[in-house]
Amino acid sequence: MSRIRFYNTFSKQIETFEPIEPGKVKIYSCGPTVYSYPHIGNFRSFLMADLLKRFFEFKGYSVTHIMNITDVGHLLEDADEGADKLEEAARREKKDPLQIAQFYTDSFMAAAELLTMKPADNYPKATDHIDEMIAMVQVLIDNGHAYVVGRNVYYDVTTFTDYGKLSGNTLDDLNAGVRIEVNSEKKNPQDFALWKHDPKHLQQWDSPWGRGFPGWHIECSAMSVKYLGEQFDFHTGGEDNIFPHHECEIAQTEGATGKKWVNYWMHGRFLMFDGEKMSKSKGNLYTIQELIEKGFKKNAIRYALISSHYRQNYNFTFAGLKAAEQAIDKISQCVFTIKQKSKADSSETIRDEVTAFIDKGISGFDAALSDDLNISKALATVFELVKEANKLADITAAEATAIVAAIEKIDSVLGILEEADDSIPAEIADLAERRKQAKLAKDWAAADAIRDEIATKGFVLEDMPGHEYRIKKN
Ligand SMILES: [Zn+2]
Repeated sequence: MSRIRFYNTFSKQIETFEPIEPGKVKIYSCGPTVYSYPHIGNFRSFLMADLLKRFFEFKGYSVTHIMNITDVGHLLEDADEGADKLEEAARREKKDPLQIAQFYTDSFMAAAELLTMKPADNYPKATDHIDEMIAMVQVLIDNGHAYVVGRNVYYDVTTFTDYGKLSGNTLDDLNAGVRIEVNSEKKNPQDFALWKHDPKHLQQWDSPWGRGFPGWHIECSAMSVKYLGEQFDFHTGGEDNIFPHHECEIAQTEGATGKKWVNYWMHGRFLMFDGEKMSKSKGNLYTIQELIEKGFKKNAIRYALISSHYRQNYNFTFAGLKAAEQAIDKISQCVFTIKQKSKADSSETIRDEVTAFIDKGISGFDAALSDDLNISKALATVFELVKEANKLADITAAEATAIVAAIEKIDSVLGILEEADDSIPAEIADLAERRKQAKLAKDWAAADAIRDEIATKGFVLEDMPGHEYRIKKN
């Protein structure tokens, strides 16, 4: 078994992976703040976590994955003061914050399903875990990491010696660049809010410090500990989460438990669109649904978003999506052709050369992803396997089964092949076969009529070399 290695944002080094519990992996991912439609940039880091999780399952690990839903406390600009993103959306759309949260949670889930993201074991909502957050804040007050001013509670960053280690920020650097805050009740400029009092805030709860609402960072500390325990293997997010969000999460959780919390920190880099930064003003924050409406296939969107290394910026373009469609076609065409070819031969033999290229494909794919999820190298081994399979002039039934099984095993990680081949109804398959016979008999009129009949039933028949064909859902 090859060693699995990952880059750890905390140590800034490639490290060999050692699970806390043998055979098990626990992953916490910062999920969406549900105040607007999630866009392709958000999904790049969600899909990084999906790839990580699917890879561990491919390796035989049992994975527990938790992704939170932020529905309170995330202020604009990730700041400590200002409007709550949920509340701003509620005011803009003249709805209740909970309606806003439900609407955009549903939209996130629909997009996640389109992208065949494997569902997390749980999607805890911040507003369902106010008690757990209050309990953790109380521990931090009791042990001296936090202090109360009026009806606000702040974390004193000078009490946590590791503060700044994840992001590489030192308190001196941070203080040098700090804006003068109107709110001078904090002991240090970098102290952050754990609990806030604001009579104008639409969502409020009772607490030992009066009515108020939790800061954004405390939710991930409280919910991850509740569902994964005080120590777990992975914490993932986008690079914009590193500071302040994850830095503050570490200070809170380790401050409360006194233990090392997360072993490996994994962050996805930003997505660019057509060489530009994505932003609302540029109008290039595409949602998954918008791309599908433009005619792009959902599996091509997934392919494009996972096909470059997570620690590199990826330039998302429409041309790239087209290339992704072609890449997927290459793999599914190979599967289809192999199934067709093998029908002529029921032999159980598997030639050594076939076993050899299958093994090479699987082990190459495994080794590439074991190397800090090197997806480019992993995809290269897949296309090498496809190339070798396409070279076979004849093929036995047993070989076909073995090759298709290998490609499906690989696809349990990639998640890009649709089950089109298996979901073709027998009636359509019969029609396609009758059309092939008509063509062989040079009865072109009959062949065209059958093709049209297939089209009216919602399927497309594509001709391939050697009187072969493939059927796809329209
Ligand atoms: Zn978080």
